[in-house]
Order: sequence, then structure tokens, then C-alpha cells
Amino acid sequence: MKKIAVFLDRDGTINEDVGYPSSFDQIKIFPYSLEAIKKINEAGLLAIIVTNQSGIARGFFTEKDLLKIHEKMQEVFMQHGAHFDAIYYCPHYSFTSLGSSNICKCRKPLPGMAQKAAKDFNIDLKKSYMIGDKIEDILFGINIGAKSILVLTGFGESALFQLKETGIRPSYIANNLLEAVNWILIDLNKIKKE
Ligand SMILES: [Mg+2]
Ligand SMILES: [Zn+2]
Repeated sequence: MKKIAVFLDRDGTINEDVGYPSSFDQIKIFPYSLEAIKKINEAGLLAIIVTNQSGIARGFFTEKDLLKIHEKMQEVFMQHGAHFDAIYYCPHYSFTSLGSSNICKCRKPLPGMAQKAAKDFNIDLKKSYMIGDKIEDILFGINIGAKSILVLTGFGESALFQLKETGIRPSYIANNLLEAVNWILIDLNKIKKE
């Protein structure tokens, strides 16, 4: 049977968005994120980070720095009985007038990272969820046929304003990651009963 994933944006969703963190000591994990990820794990869903990390292409930090951050993040969550099943990142960025998406297929809102995850883990994207704080995250979820949840942490408040202006609607708006996960668990229960 195909699996269901909860795709997660990183900065502004799991941890504070501080710009371009280059080492783990700059990462401030929201305290409720540990419980939120644990709930995803315990529900038998995949917890998969999908993160745009153009700081690599911009020369702010290296791929090695990023992998180190992710390794440490994973360690902290594991100490609390939670884990990420995978972490996908887009290291690309283009400065051309054509926009940033012309050089790769993996920068959100493009669906590349989810398509790769779907192959790697046998995921049913249409039954899956995406949680994030930016309009790119909501569009990414829509592009892969998943349900999108906007969190109001990070850039969430300004994303909410943008979404209202463009008429793009997330499936749900949550105050934070834990509320978003709680909504997913209720939604899955409803689907089961149908
Ligand atoms: Mg974000
Ligand atoms: Zn990319």
C-alpha cells in the first residue's frame, strides 16, 4: 500500500526563520515542533522536510554545512523520540530575469522534491499533506495534489495577506505546526470513516 506523507517546510515552520543559517547554533527549533513530529511518526505517516536552501547557490554556506545542520536537527528530534524520515533540499538559485525556477525542477513551488520522495518512499501524493509558512509552500502542496496547510509562524502572516489577494486557498490555516498536525490527524480520521 502507498504511504501518506506530511511534507514540512523547515525555516519558519519547524524552526524560526532567521535568514540563511549556516550552522546549527543559529537554528531555533520551536518548542512544540518536537511533539508535532512525534505525532506524525506515531500516526504512521512519513515526516519529510522539503526546503529551499538557495544560500548554497548564493555562496552563504556549503552543502556540507547544510548536511551538518540537518544531522544535528535529526539528533535533537531523536533525543525526544521523534524523527524525520527524510530531508530533501533545493540548493539552487538563479539571478536571471526569468526567475529562479528556470535552472532546476526542485525549487518550491516546483514539485521536484515531492516527486523524488514519492519514488523513494512509494508515497501517494494526493493523500499527502504540505505544511509551510510561505505562498511557495501552499503552491507546492497544490502542485502535487496534496492538501496544503499554512502556518502563521515565520512569514505566515504576510503569506496569508498574499493568498487573500491572489485567491489561492490553503486547505487549512493553523497558528503553528502542532495545530497543523492536529488538524491533519482529525482530517485523516474523517477520511477513514467515509
Ligand atoms: Mg519557510
Ligand atoms: Zn533546485
